[in-house]
Amino acid sequence: MLYLNNKLVTEKKALISVFDHGFLYGDGIYETLRAYKGAVFMIDEHIERLFRSASMIGLVLPKGHDGIKEAVYQTMKANGHKEAYVRITISRGPGPLGLDPALCPQPTFVIISKEFMDYPRSYYQKGVNIAIVNTRRNYKKALDPKIKSLNFLNNILAKRESIDRGAYEAIMLNHNGHVAEGTISNIFFVKDNILCTPATGVGILDGITRRIILDAARELGIKVKEGRFRPEDLYNADEVFISNTTMEVMPVSGVDDKKTPLKFTITRQLHKAYRKKVAEYIKG
Ligand code: PLP
Repeated sequence: MLYLNNKLVTEKKALISVFDHGFLYGDGIYETLRAYKGAVFMIDEHIERLFRSASMIGLVLPKGHDGIKEAVYQTMKANGHKEAYVRITISRGPGPLGLDPALCPQPTFVIISKEFMDYPRSYYQKGVNIAIVNTRRNYKKALDPKIKSLNFLNNILAKRESIDRGAYEAIMLNHNGHVAEGTISNIFFVKDNILCTPATGVGILDGITRRIILDAARELGIKVKEGRFRPEDLYNADEVFISNTTMEVMPVSGVDDKKTPLKFTITRQLHKAYRKKVAEYIKG
């Protein structure tokens, strides 16, 4: 079952108009959430970010915070999901051709809940490889990556490059050549026991997993540096990992063709701390 506008419907009946501006123009926003043992981790933070994205594109959401939360749990319950991948998508809605958002008085609101499929264990044991691609991350004064937008072509072009190069994730630089983020992930590296990650000002999504990792590092007494970094910093790092809501903390085994053996010591420590936060959240 899926949640479409105000009700639960079967997948067959979950139909939206070809005039939906999400389809025509990529005009909309979304969130990806993960449920553990029936509890959606950091649901309030995800819904808050959804509201921030909405306000940055001038979209008035059809429900309030609590209404969205209730709809998420209703969708999971209807499917009997406890370990779930949940996606909330809100598009500008159907309207005549034309870019003016005022043409679309009613946004389309969709929630999809899918049974969560674990990533292969080998990814966490051996790490995944990443490639620094030529596609630059959207310039923040053009389309701010802070907006979790349906407009994903920037990420898809980067992803195509990483597929061509046999890499699991593509890392994009910003317009100045600073390391920004992956197509669906934030990036971290460790150098001389300092945990480094691009500052939000570089032009990235303010990842919820990223924030938890930074908090966990500070609690563990690990020095943290949010800044501007170059590809060489990744090539010369002791450890590299990527993060997002579904993969949590994913170790990186190699960056481009650089064969420096990467360690996973602090990466593992942070993943464990992240998991502890998930466990505490579920208990709460
Ligand atoms: N950066 C991009 C471009 C993303 O699409 C995502 C998640 O989908 C992230 C970073 C990580 O964000 P979060 O940790 O909130 O899932």
